[in-house]
Amino acid sequence: MGATDTVGTVTPRLFIGGIWKTASDKSDFPVHDPSTGDTLAFMSDATPEDALEALACASAAQATWAQVSPGTRADILRRAFERLLADADKFAHIIALEMGKSLEQAHGEVRYAADFLRWFSEEAVRVHGRYQTAPNGALQHLITKKPVGPCLLITPWNFPLAMLTRKVGPAVAAGCTMVVKPAELTPLTAAMFTSLMCEAGLPSGVMNLITTTRAESVVSALLSDARLKKVSFTGSTRVGRIVLAGAAQNILRTSMELGGNAPFIVFDDANLDAAIDGALQAKLRNIGQACTAANRFYVHSYLYDDFVGRLSEEFSKIELGCGALGGDRMGPLITEAARENVHAMVLDALEQGATLICGGEIPPGPGSFYPPTVLSDVPADARIMRTEVFGPVAPICRFDDQNAVLALSNDSEVGLAAYVYSQELQRALDIAEQLQTGMVGVNTGIISDPAAPFGGVKQSGLGREGGMEGIDEYLSIQYTGIAGRLSER
Ligand code: ADP
Repeated sequence: MGATDTVGTVTPRLFIGGIWKTASDKSDFPVHDPSTGDTLAFMSDATPEDALEALACASAAQATWAQVSPGTRADILRRAFERLLADADKFAHIIALEMGKSLEQAHGEVRYAADFLRWFSEEAVRVHGRYQTAPNGALQHLITKKPVGPCLLITPWNFPLAMLTRKVGPAVAAGCTMVVKPAELTPLTAAMFTSLMCEAGLPSGVMNLITTTRAESVVSALLSDARLKKVSFTGSTRVGRIVLAGAAQNILRTSMELGGNAPFIVFDDANLDAAIDGALQAKLRNIGQACTAANRFYVHSYLYDDFVGRLSEEFSKIELGCGALGGDRMGPLITEAARENVHAMVLDALEQGATLICGGEIPPGPGSFYPPTVLSDVPADARIMRTEVFGPVAPICRFDDQNAVLALSNDSEVGLAAYVYSQELQRALDIAEQLQTGMVGVNTGIISDPAAPFGGVKQSGLGREGGMEGIDEYLSIQYTGIAGRLSER
């Protein structure tokens, strides 16, 4: 397969009410390969009117879709899971092309994305209610769950497929219809996945796809329309705040997966090999562009020099190159602007007194590549320790005192993930309990799993995706009080 062959299999249009359409004003926008800057394809650029047409279709399909049995919805998701695995090469290729990660990591994303479809096909038939007698015996309580209604699903570019299935999976399982708005930087994967859902048997109108560069006006038009009942957003805290404000007009149900600033804490009794492996995964997976990425490293003085030396040795072995061409080379950052942002944070840390151990120089040539970079003795208040880096840079800080490192870790407006390395499980669990984050990895650098609730506290968001909790975000609860005792009927 040539580098761009797969692109020809994508329908570069909007999907509204079961029909592939161009934008009403016929406009389109280019999609780029971040490894070369080349244009891969042109996608239709939806207007707010197109988005409202998509919502009208989702709204019209809602009542019928809610009546489809849970078993049938589960079967559709199961078929989608199987098709996605069968088409893994095609999907991995398009993800690597438009997003830039290596083919190997893109295959990892396809498996992770498929697992959400399998998980929610299993959850679709396990939506439970409750029946109970009121404490005073006057009423019988019937507690049931229903689909929330038409949802707007807004996804980011860093995991173009998995962030979609993590929302589409539970929406389908719960019986909700959808308007899907993927990031404008990675719309090709979303279009390919929309075709797959249709082939898996999803009825017309249930899933509608709106690709657009006019995110602000399109999303604002949808949020202002009373037919929309929920918005699920994954992206930056900055945009999340805008979406939340828009959702306030009609008091929408909201799920928000926002930014992180994960501390990676290595105690004196950590297994150094495991900590280095975990650091490589938590820092370099997705070229550092993950909200769960280890953002700041706190390493106990006892292991500090060994940790810095070993990590920079491993980082220095990594080659940069176009992800879609195969091999395990590390791809580029998503845009030139993203690279400039990362580099500015590195320069700022150096100005603040940090030491550059490896990397830190922008390589020549096309593509927004940035080398794996290790910074040592970074001041705790440097911008890079307080801001989501979204790049392959590991700023490391030394510590001696457990309480001090805990205070530093919790000194953040966000609280998504944290990583703790210690061979003493009780100590690790004590620390985990005191960390103000939604997720903690103990002696592991990878925690995401469709069967576990993903989400944060503080300004990292609202709600959970995946796990037994994930489907609840798409269900509303109804309580019916029934007079009298059962025995009196
Ligand atoms: P990132 O920083 O990861 O690029 P963003 O928060 O910018 O994340 O984008 C996440 C999603 O939000 C994308 O689908 C993007 O198109 C969308 N988006 C960007 N700006 C707005 C906005 N003003 N209103 C609504 N959605 C937006």
